[in-house]
Amino acid sequence: MTNNLVTLAYITAIVLFILSLGGLSNQETAKRGNLYGIVGMVLAISATAFSAGLTNYVALVGVLVPGVVIGALMASRVEMTAMPELVAMLHSFVGLAAVLVGVGNYLQPEAALVGAEETIHLLEIYIGVFIGAVTFTGSVVAFGKLKAIISSKPLTLPGRHLLNIGLLVGTVALGVVFMGAAGTAGLPALLGMCGLAGLLGIHLVAAIGGADMPVVISMLNSYSGWAAAAAGFMLSNDLLIVTGALVGSSGAILSIIMCRAMNRSFLSVILGGFGNAPAAKGGSSAPGGEATSTTAAETVELLTQANSVIITPGYGMAVAQAQHAVADITKILRDRGTQVRFGIHPVAGRLPGHMNVLLAEANVPYDIVLEMDEINEDFSETDVVLVIGANDTVNPSALEDPTSPIAGMPVLEVWQAQNVVVMKRSLSVGYAGVDNPLFYKENTQMLFGDAKANVSAILAEMQKSKVPAMASA
Ligand code: NDP
Repeated sequence: MTNNLVTLAYITAIVLFILSLGGLSNQETAKRGNLYGIVGMVLAISATAFSAGLTNYVALVGVLVPGVVIGALMASRVEMTAMPELVAMLHSFVGLAAVLVGVGNYLQPEAALVGAEETIHLLEIYIGVFIGAVTFTGSVVAFGKLKAIISSKPLTLPGRHLLNIGLLVGTVALGVVFMGAAGTAGLPALLGMCGLAGLLGIHLVAAIGGADMPVVISMLNSYSGWAAAAAGFMLSNDLLIVTGALVGSSGAILSIIMCRAMNRSFLSVILGGFGNAPAAKGGSSAPGGEATSTTAAETVELLTQANSVIITPGYGMAVAQAQHAVADITKILRDRGTQVRFGIHPVAGRLPGHMNVLLAEANVPYDIVLEMDEINEDFSETDVVLVIGANDTVNPSALEDPTSPIAGMPVLEVWQAQNVVVMKRSLSVGYAGVDNPLFYKENTQMLFGDAKANVSAILAEMQKSKVPAMASA
């Protein structure tokens, strides 16, 4: 393939990646966005494979085929609830690739550079390896925390900020040695920095409490983009630079959105650690009173009398795989003329957009799935709220108890509604480990049990009852 054709293919791929990101910003266009991304990636890989500089096809096929097979198998087998772990692992690969590309590029430069060009190239390598190493070890720790191999509690070492600064000072000092070394004599300094950056990655993510993992995942997503962009600079590959920058900046924007959703400061996330991050359990005062339990039949009665219903799903709906039955209930209610909407918290579930994906899979109409900000004011005028497997995202202590570990986090204010039915198996805490006073409020009724079993029971009961249709959806 001529250089011009490769450039054309790269530009087309870049346009497709931008269209892909645009498409993914909206549920209705998300499928198309994915398709653009796939076509762009196939084009990018093909153009690279057939570019003039590439001759070792045995090595290329030797890594590409197992990579494609392993990737396809992993992606097809992963549970939606385990997606964050997979994403963290994939980020670690990007980081590791940037490190390997950097070291390889240093040991075997493509062209002999001199003067300013050589200095810039060495800087690219050094910065690229640094970002790659931080991303690699940070992602491995994030994977361990998400998979509960490592404790999700924040590691708050004494003088941890000083430790971070020390690691950064060491990185700069080794950088001076690296830049001044002739030929490949700077390798020990490069590898030494790699070790320091690796430690920094471990420490930054270890200092973040489990409840703040959504932000960490999107931050690592951003880091992996910058690592890819750095690798692009090292390899003089414009496509990799642009793609990396797209991932890096979109990851950073997502992080800001997640920070807002969790009431965290963006800067403190970048610096790692959130001061004294949430303790494992409870606020200053454990909720008092007794929880009232209810049954599927009573819930159907409430729903039958309701004019407006809001459903707020959470992680438990994903675990129980209750989304299809929830969609069926929604349809029946809408067919009867009841207004049904969904309220989605930005960090509901275990990855950004988790609930939206599940509801889309169950064919819930997009226009009744609303973001927290769009629906929060409507709870006070709502007859029934069904909380399905959500906990932290509907916890009033975030707003009412300044000593709560999640104080200040915006939440879905479900308790403002006339009636709240909470479906979960027990009164136990959610991901953040914080007790939830919602369960003990007067207008709350607990429908204990597996969400799918309960939603299916409600559905069966509704299908049995012969309520005449008032309007059609
Ligand atoms: P939570 O994790 O707060 O609570 C989920 C609840 O679901 C649990 O309390 C559990 O209660 C219940 N549950 C579990 N299995 C079932 C089941 N089979 N049937 C019924 N209920 C079940 O969920 P939320 O979605 O409200 O909040 C998400 C939390 O996860 C937030 O703290 C967020 O910060 C964090 N997080 C979010 C990420 C993201 O990107 N979205 C990534 C990582 C973490 P019980 O055991 O009593 O059934």
